[in-house]
Amino acid sequence: MRKISIFGATGSIGQNTIDLIRRDPASYDVVALSGGQNIAQLAADARELKADVAVTADEARLDDLRAALAGSGVEAAAGAAAIREAAARPADWVMSAIVGAAGLAPGLEALEQGATLALANKESLVTAGQLIMGTAAKYNARILPVDSEHSAIFQGLIGEDMAAVERIIITASGGAFRDWTLEDMARATPEQASSHPNWNMGQRITVDSASMFNKALEVIETKEFFGCGHEQIEVLVHPESLVHALVGFNDGALMAHVGPPDMRHAIGFALHWPERKTLPVERLDLAKVGALHFREPDLQRYPALRLAHEVLELGGHAGAIFNAAKERALDGFLDHRIGFLQMAEVVEEVLTQLSPSHCRKNAEMTLDTVMETDHLARKTAGQVMQKLA
Ligand code: NAD
Ligand code: MG
Repeated sequence: MRKISIFGATGSIGQNTIDLIRRDPASYDVVALSGGQNIAQLAADARELKADVAVTADEARLDDLRAALAGSGVEAAAGAAAIREAAARPADWVMSAIVGAAGLAPGLEALEQGATLALANKESLVTAGQLIMGTAAKYNARILPVDSEHSAIFQGLIGEDMAAVERIIITASGGAFRDWTLEDMARATPEQASSHPNWNMGQRITVDSASMFNKALEVIETKEFFGCGHEQIEVLVHPESLVHALVGFNDGALMAHVGPPDMRHAIGFALHWPERKTLPVERLDLAKVGALHFREPDLQRYPALRLAHEVLELGGHAGAIFNAAKERALDGFLDHRIGFLQMAEVVEEVLTQLSPSHCRKNAEMTLDTVMETDHLARKTAGQVMQKLA
């Protein structure tokens, strides 16, 4: 039996992970599950999977969680420190599926105890790539990417030599506003931005898909995880979302990963790696699909993509600034305080203000320096938004 923990268990990735675990409960011994406000879901899953501990991120909900777990034998805990403590409990495999920079500290705890980290939380790689990768190396822990594009690249690189890789292409569906004009995007509402044409995901990543901030995070994630140059990373708009990524080699070959837009493929691949096991995802009928389309992204409509390359050129703590400013700007958009296109304006302004002092390439990176930078960038983004409003 493998000991596993799932952080962000009540979210979209967390629930897809539980769907796979539930099909084969005899193979897994569940240590910890974490969630947020959805106490009923967290408690029901913890009971069903017989977890040792269930943790809600919200300290004010501890009594509710205790009540929901009464008589189950599952321990209840609450707060960020309790999530970290749960992540430090010995496990073989840990799913990191909290949304946002809040996933960084528990991910580091899991790596420090040597667990294999299935990483859906791209924000931790964007915020602190050097720290995450360095911690994995130091503790001899493995990271397996769960983002669909990065799982696809990882699979395309099996048995290959990175030195033979010329380029890595990640695809983007184009999100909710793929065919909208810039004028219409400027007036887009959170409700309009929260529906995705192809993927069913949490609200924040869905809005980030419409702005392509999600793809910008993924460009940075690609560089941090695979260690390639940022000039080797390309983004292609691919409305069908069936080709997830392509790896281009020095002999002209392009290895494409094709599959249905179902996160249970990437989650299941990380769960069973290095084996492949049967997964409950649709088998594509390419004759029915007929055609696949690709086009270059329009950088005018998607300034986030340009900013991603600037972040990689800046280095140092630029990723932490970028992610934190983006998270704050997204809060501002969801609260109707700023417009859809103003999210990128806020992020760019925060980067301009903070990069001279925070992007020294050889600066030491620790959890403290990252969190300090994250807090400063959130504060600065708040000030920038106040001026805009
Ligand atoms: P979601 O919003 O559906 O779920 C987020 C989870 O994190 C929930 O369990 C929530 O309770 C928890 N959470 C939220 N804020 C927290 C905090 N401050 N502290 C602790 N826990 C907190 O999100 P999701 O779509 O499942 O995405 C999770 C992560 O996976 C994100 O990093 C996202 O970018 C990444 N990802 C998601 C998908 C997808 O298909 N949903 C695909 C690729 C990558
Ligand atoms: Mg992705």
